[in-house]
Amino acid sequence: MRPSLLNPLFAAITTLAGIGPKMAPLYERLAGGRVLDLLWHLPSGVIDRRFAPKLADAPSGKVATLTVQIDAHIPSNSPKRPYRVRCSDETGFLHLVFFHGREDWLRRQLPEGEWRVISGVVEHFNTEIQMTHPDHMVPVADKEQVMSIEPVYPLTGGLTGRMVTKTVRLAVEQAPQLPEWQDEAWFRRQGWPSWRQALEALHQPQSEREIVEDSPARRRLAYDELLANQLALMMVRAHMRKLKGRIIPLSQHLRPQVMTALPFSLTAAQTRSLGEIDADMGQPLRMLRLLQGDVGSGKTVVALLSMLNAVEAGAQAALMAPTEILARQHLETIGPLVETAGLRVSLLTGRDKGKARNAILADLAEGRIDIIIGTHALFQADVVFADLAFAVIDEQHRFGVHQRLELASKGYAVDMLVMTATPIPRTLLLTSYGDMDVSRLDEKPPGRQPVSTRALPLARMDEVVDGISRAVSAGARIYWVCPLVEESETSDLAAAEERHRHLSQLLGACVGLVHGKMKGPDKDKVMAAFAGGELSVLVATTVIEVGVNVPEATIMVIEHAERFGLAQLHQLRGRVGRGSGASSCLLLYGAPLSENAKARLEIMRATEDGFLIAEEDLRLRGGGEILGTRQSGLPEFKLADLALHDDLLAVARDDANLILTRDPDLASERGQALRVLLYLFERDAAIHTIRSG
Ligand code: ADP
Ligand code: MG
Repeated sequence: MRPSLLNPLFAAITTLAGIGPKMAPLYERLAGGRVLDLLWHLPSGVIDRRFAPKLADAPSGKVATLTVQIDAHIPSNSPKRPYRVRCSDETGFLHLVFFHGREDWLRRQLPEGEWRVISGVVEHFNTEIQMTHPDHMVPVADKEQVMSIEPVYPLTGGLTGRMVTKTVRLAVEQAPQLPEWQDEAWFRRQGWPSWRQALEALHQPQSEREIVEDSPARRRLAYDELLANQLALMMVRAHMRKLKGRIIPLSQHLRPQVMTALPFSLTAAQTRSLGEIDADMGQPLRMLRLLQGDVGSGKTVVALLSMLNAVEAGAQAALMAPTEILARQHLETIGPLVETAGLRVSLLTGRDKGKARNAILADLAEGRIDIIIGTHALFQADVVFADLAFAVIDEQHRFGVHQRLELASKGYAVDMLVMTATPIPRTLLLTSYGDMDVSRLDEKPPGRQPVSTRALPLARMDEVVDGISRAVSAGARIYWVCPLVEESETSDLAAAEERHRHLSQLLGACVGLVHGKMKGPDKDKVMAAFAGGELSVLVATTVIEVGVNVPEATIMVIEHAERFGLAQLHQLRGRVGRGSGASSCLLLYGAPLSENAKARLEIMRATEDGFLIAEEDLRLRGGGEILGTRQSGLPEFKLADLALHDDLLAVARDDANLILTRDPDLASERGQALRVLLYLFERDAAIHTIRSG
């Protein structure tokens, strides 16, 4: 159970004064629904309001806090003109300017003849001094409150800076003192504030310096988060290690048989990875291994050859793909290879219903299927195996950790191989897959042609279409990917449909369209027509991103390439250059390009190395957006920024290691404090492994 000490932090924001049912949704949109979420909502800058000159000395363009007497209200005489209020001190005059100002409210705030303290940006306008929409207007008695350093928060519609500042201040007040979970010596050396002091320093800063990314307070909180992450990963891993596994010996018959049937020999990287998997399977431990390899590096065959160990041992293997198209494709590759060895393979997807589905389930439960390939459908409760010993999950990032566990629970001591084409940089591997062993396919099968990549402005569309039309006449097969439109599948679709119409008019019936809203069988039909060569051009939304294999395709056109992340561009480009023909990739962009977009396209032109691209992606995007984190399922950090705090990650890793060596049950005083840390960052699952372990 969560320590009650933390309850005020996990309480709903409506427990804060002034946050009722009307305001709560705004704050939820901004930061989240709990007090804790507000604490993590850090300011992006500060405004120093301590500068309090006389009017004659107030420089243009600077924030100043002025003490003035209200002389006269000058209401607007036309909707286009602002409402003005004339003020003065003994050195000069100033006009406050309000667009759409409400007279009754302004007269109450600024009664003629009285003194007020106002704060905002001073503007010199011809010979006049003015201030448009002051940030603060308070009685002189409240001057001290205004004359301070004010945090500036990222905002959302309906919330002002002043409201957020006030509410976050309440949240900080509600934050308890927490026991110190940092290693004492390290903590002292860093000169870091306590957890609560760090929050105060960030939300009530005394200078800009306190809130920058490398300030002690910022680094402390970042380290807390990284430590929680590393500790939790290692605890889960330690727990997994303790679970019994089964010994599955190396296949002696099936593997050599299938290898003979392969039309190629394995790359050194494939052989090495396979060796690592075999070694794991041969141990009485549960394997949890990540097979990481760029698109086209040949992960599927590695998976297949490992599955044969399990099958030869008399058990079953499952291969799970994120989409129906991919599951089908795996079946097409794997089916013929293993059928020659007399194995029984079957497919189970959401499309199988009724009798057909029941027949597959019965075969699976009674051991008449050796290898099952499928989608999410494999998770369903009534899917029962005779004896599942080995599970492969393709493109892990589409599945959650709990799904991984669910599949594992369908067998006894299941060995698990997770495959990903996302070229995750080392830093991120530690934070997201810290609980897994990693095998890397860092070498492509021989004979692959490099993909020549060019960036062109969309304004040259006509030229591009001419080129495509010539290529089609010459027998080429072409992917045409349509722009990603923020958070709107329907507009993605509209753009793709529009392009499909356009190209069909020019090129005729050889242009196909595939998108995420299509029904499975329809999608398959179009894909098959493209793979079979009846279609020359495939217009697509990003559904083709993952894993589709058509070796004859040699041209990839990506429209509005500047809207895609680097990792995504890399995945898309990986669809071509799979056969023996020379391939090219055209990145069409909308001008003008931002500096960042320019850099991204330049990297794509410069290299095809997925790992290099991933590192650059991390550098360019930093923070929570790495590799399009949201799509990829990698953890998002709230406080740590891996582009800036990666030195801390390494320390956190060592720290966590040492903690678990000395105090694996987190029983010591520091251990108890670390439990609080884990709950604070919602890594409770790790704590439960102690109880059960
Ligand atoms: P990915 O790692 O993207 O899943 P695949 O497993 O789909 O890659 O393999 C891509 C293509 O390369 C397939 O057509 C596969 O048959 C082929 N391939 C795999 N390994 C080799 C190899 N060692 N030599 C030549 N071709 C290979
Ligand atoms: Mg694949």
